[in-house]
Amino acid sequence: MNKFSDFPYTNVLVLGLAKSGTAAANLLAANGTRVIVNDGNANAEDENIKELARRGVKTVVGSHPLSVLEGVELVVKNPGIKYDNPVLVHALEKSIPIVTEVELVNYLTEANIIGITGSNGKTTTTTMVTEMLRNSSLPVKVAGNIGIVASETAATMLKGENLVLELSSFQLQGTKHFRPHIAVLLNIFSAHLDYHHTLENYIAAKSRIFARQTPDDFAVYNADDAVVCEAVRQSKAEKIPFSVKRRLENGVWADRDAIYFYDEKVVDRAEIVLVGEHNLENILAAVAAAKLSGASNQGIRKVLGSFNGVKHRLQYVTTVQGRRFYNDSKATNILATSKALTAFDTPTILLAGGLDRGNGFEEMLPFLKHVKAMVLFGETAHKIHDTAVKAGIEDIVFADDITDAVPKAYALSVPKDIILLSPACASWDQYKTFEQRGDMFIQAVHTLE
Ligand code: ADP
Repeated sequence: MNKFSDFPYTNVLVLGLAKSGTAAANLLAANGTRVIVNDGNANAEDENIKELARRGVKTVVGSHPLSVLEGVELVVKNPGIKYDNPVLVHALEKSIPIVTEVELVNYLTEANIIGITGSNGKTTTTTMVTEMLRNSSLPVKVAGNIGIVASETAATMLKGENLVLELSSFQLQGTKHFRPHIAVLLNIFSAHLDYHHTLENYIAAKSRIFARQTPDDFAVYNADDAVVCEAVRQSKAEKIPFSVKRRLENGVWADRDAIYFYDEKVVDRAEIVLVGEHNLENILAAVAAAKLSGASNQGIRKVLGSFNGVKHRLQYVTTVQGRRFYNDSKATNILATSKALTAFDTPTILLAGGLDRGNGFEEMLPFLKHVKAMVLFGETAHKIHDTAVKAGIEDIVFADDITDAVPKAYALSVPKDIILLSPACASWDQYKTFEQRGDMFIQAVHTLE
């Protein structure tokens, strides 16, 4: 198949440049499509704008005049741009389809596409599937919401190869032609409602992952999540459920001892390094996608025997004098921290605190059962302190920041304790990003060794 051979549009507007918009504009221009790019923040002197102009792309920067839509048949927008942008409002009025660059993927490659979406667990699952295929000696690349432009990677891939894509609801919304051979839907929680407005819109966006699938494709879904079960009903693909709660004749499931694909045992649970009930869900989804793509049990076992989590997501760091350290800096809300806390049933010292968004922390109370001490920092330290007192925790210590908190936590610990950074707050009061906060934690832990 020639790349873009069946692409039905001759005039395309790329809205919002960043990395993905620039890649989409370049791919479309190389195909001979007439492309106009519009970015409200870019500057005509930016190198990527000058380069696009040299390639014959019309560039409109610094504002969003509605005239950019003249003659346009398709809008490819940056996933971050909201639908109240004036150009998008006008495009909707004119019934011009609005997609993201993910829409281009199936025009660019005949590779086996594995698309993974859900409210939580996308990066973890995407990473595991990729590693399982790699460790089974199957050709594989990873892209999408994980930080690598999907269409740009797709353009480099051949039939028979595997492309694993992490997909956000923003990327999926509006897609028309995008069709993964294997689609995975992990879970749907009420999230991103500032963008999608209603839960129905959010579910509809996520469900686009199934929309173009045919009976030759597979829809992997969480059978324990009622909203997911509803969403998958519209799929024409062969449905492969996974469940952490019950045995499934036609899917992936777990009992206390092992993980099974249909009735075949794939891996003993004792071999698995990753902790947490939520991660068991991600593992089952990853096993389903990997098995359907031809991965070997040996390759899958190798990954599950060593994968200790994506950095900053309940990531096992190291053990110092019998104390196990976990970095869950990505836990920027109470829900995420409660998931982390339920992963352990041994005494835990929790490091928490950060940006104050105005909420209280009472919702954490039911999850503090195993927490024997807390070290608190950041704007919310005193609010979390009040909750810790209500929970009856006696050892509550304040720290200036993470670097100060780690030795304080260590001083409160004994061998076999868990020392967990899971802040329940965003990092921006003291750190640039949650990654920087997690890196400071790892650094401080290593100075104890
Ligand atoms: P995403 O890419 O969807 O943001 P990640 O894999 O980066 O998800 O995990 C982010 C956080 O979400 C984790 O630290 C954990 O707290 C939570 N999480 C991960 N997987 C799940 C799941 N299957 N169900 C609920 N929460 C989860």
